[in-house]
Amino acid sequence: MGVEFYACDCCGDSRYEEYVDHCGSCGHTLGTCCVVNDYIGSSYAFDYGVRYDGSKEQIEEYGIDPEDYEIDDIVEDSGIDPKFCPFCSGEVVAKEDLFDYLLKKHGLVFEEVKAEYLAQKGAERA
Ligand SMILES: [Zn+2]
Ligand SMILES: [Zn+2]
Repeated sequence: MGVEFYACDCCGDSRYEEYVDHCGSCGHTLGTCCVVNDYIGSSYAFDYGVRYDGSKEQIEEYGIDPEDYEIDDIVEDSGIDPKFCPFCSGEVVAKEDLFDYLLKKHGLVFEEVKAEYLAQKGAERA
């Protein structure tokens, strides 16, 4: 039986899979090491899942069968609730997110920037 490790996108530490999950909103891999607004105080990522509030939005978003859930149950496969996510809350900015933003803002295409960068590097070496 293998234990899987995942690297937290926020601090870069590798942790047991139980302690790491994806943010349900931005998709970053996040360990409980770096959650924000933490009033839960658990090491287990599952405890930071989205809690069922009985709303139609949640039922639709997560394909919930209301028969299966009580209010405040953690929704299966919801990942970490974005309210605990340092990226979603703006506490931490991931370089790749910033990068995507810059590309978009300046109407650039990744492959073109990469080609330009490599050509520049080549020119420096020559
Ligand atoms: Zn971390
Ligand atoms: Zn997030």
